[in-house]
Amino acid sequence: MADVIKLLPDHVANQIAAGEVVQRPASVVKELLENAIDASATEIKLIVKDAGKTLIQVIDNGVGMSATDARLSFERHATSKIASAEDLFQLQTKGFRGEALASIAAIAHVDMNTKRSDEEVGTYIHIEGGKVVDQEVNVMPKGTSIAVKNLFFNIPARRNFLKSNNVELRHIIDEFHRVALTHPDIHFELYNNGGEIFNLPSTNIRQRIVHIFGNKTNEKLVPVEEDTEVVKLSGFVFKPEFAKKTRGEQFFFVNNRFIKSSYLNHAISSAFEGLVKDQVHPSYFLYLAIDPSSIDINIHPTKTEIKFDDEHAIYAIMRSAVKHSLGQFNVAPILDFERDPNLDTPYDFEGKKADMPTIEVDANFNPFEEEVNGGSNHKPSSFKKEKSSDWESLFVGLDEGSGQDDFSSIEMESEVVTGSLFDETNEEESSAVTFQLQRKYIVTSIKSGMVVIDQSKAHQRVLYEQFLKDITVKEAVSQQLLFPLNLKFSKSEIGLLKELKESLENTGFMFSNFEEDSVEVGGIPMNVSESEVGGVLDQLLADFKEEVPENGFSQTDLLAKTLSKTLAVRTGDVLNKASQEALVHNLFACKEPNLSPFNRPTFVTMTANDLDKKFM
Ligand code: ADP
Ligand code: MG
Repeated sequence: MADVIKLLPDHVANQIAAGEVVQRPASVVKELLENAIDASATEIKLIVKDAGKTLIQVIDNGVGMSATDARLSFERHATSKIASAEDLFQLQTKGFRGEALASIAAIAHVDMNTKRSDEEVGTYIHIEGGKVVDQEVNVMPKGTSIAVKNLFFNIPARRNFLKSNNVELRHIIDEFHRVALTHPDIHFELYNNGGEIFNLPSTNIRQRIVHIFGNKTNEKLVPVEEDTEVVKLSGFVFKPEFAKKTRGEQFFFVNNRFIKSSYLNHAISSAFEGLVKDQVHPSYFLYLAIDPSSIDINIHPTKTEIKFDDEHAIYAIMRSAVKHSLGQFNVAPILDFERDPNLDTPYDFEGKKADMPTIEVDANFNPFEEEVNGGSNHKPSSFKKEKSSDWESLFVGLDEGSGQDDFSSIEMESEVVTGSLFDETNEEESSAVTFQLQRKYIVTSIKSGMVVIDQSKAHQRVLYEQFLKDITVKEAVSQQLLFPLNLKFSKSEIGLLKELKESLENTGFMFSNFEEDSVEVGGIPMNVSESEVGGVLDQLLADFKEEVPENGFSQTDLLAKTLSKTLAVRTGDVLNKASQEALVHNLFACKEPNLSPFNRPTFVTMTANDLDKKFM
């Protein structure tokens, strides 16, 4: 009998391999994003159409490819990332199998444009079903753009198997989150059908989480930090009261790769035992850094599973680290509370932040930074530093986006009324204790006695300054709504909204499709929740109905006032410790902390002397 074994032609082999690598548009998204990161990009734009069914494009400003590499990159097992089998055990890159581009090209139409920084011209390549159809020289900035069109055009069965656009888009966003959460230093953008869904500026991990999941997330986060011989663990868990019925945000990363592990998920759940009801799932963002030679991530083609040499040790470490953080938070919520050293710095020194003798806390220290950069083994063992990261986060609303700098500039302009308002001699008791009185006032101690803050008026001040800044600086971060809200208004209200559109969009609102009696809201400010939107806009329109101020400044001012009035906490709202503390700090970081936007006092102080007199 004749021999029957044949080698499969390359294009068939690639199509089969594609089945493993590319299950759906989101798989392409993952591979392209990872390649951009491996190429050291600092800006990455993801553009999809019809949830990736029509187009998936990733544009990066990374190292780019030479003409030869560009062509080779579509060959199977073509990779620049490993040269020998040993390299597999010291992987620092996301990719290494060298089959993603080959697989993708086998089942789609691909346009690639790429240029290295040291070359004059770039390369354009067009591939269909694995065959190079066109290759040309082109002119472009350094970096790479890969556009994948008509996915599965030659495998109709696969194409039919795809779910609705909503479902596929959800998968894409999940992949996008996973990548964005491990690289907060990279600026990411995501567009679907021409609309911006995310625009995430370069920042630290905590703020990246907040930018993705909304401002309200900030107060939910409890930092986790553990540094052992075997692993370095860092990140955040949600406070137990925010555990969800559905598996919410559960992110576990090993060496900056998103990993699914039910075993380690169990470690975290068990740390929450007794703190949450059965049937609810804690949310977490945990980052494990471990010697790459002690893990095997090669066991699954899409690389979301992992084998550890010593799984039991890691289970134990994770469980105890999370327990420890939760414990600290429960018995001593106060530990979250740390003064900004800048508040205590004499005014003259504020401009010279760089050489300021910040003995207590290094305000620029970011315990997660090195982890992000995959850096060395710094031991963040001292508790002070952990607190400093927390402390920064209290200001998340004020310094959104560009981190420390924005905040310090606010600080510099402000009249430093606060000076050393807080007691320095007796930190433990004084700066730490806050409590709520009559669901109306926040009481806290200061150097000379005590301060009683009107929660609602104080919060109005904080929000007012924040909105004022957002509108003026035009850098507000918008929460994109996956499903735009369609809101009904009267004709005249729509007219009014159109007039205010620009200012409102600077606060984070995004409007589209103005009809006669309705408008679509596709994005909202970070500190507004979806359910509040209607009410906020109604109030706004009511306030503006009288008259729209001509002058741009008064318009901005009225807008900021209305928004702050509508969104501020009210008398009667119960504030938890963290919110009380954040409010105190945010208030005293304001330019004019003493007055509400409507010129009412925000706080009164009572000195020990005043009290003494009462006891005479
Ligand atoms: P892998 O990432 O496993 O190496 P891929 O098929 O994803 O395999 O990519 C093949 C090669 O193409 C990469 O090793 C890299 O050299 C090059 N490459 C792919 N995408 C980019 C990009 N965005 N920028 C620069 N080089 C890239
Ligand atoms: Mg790759």
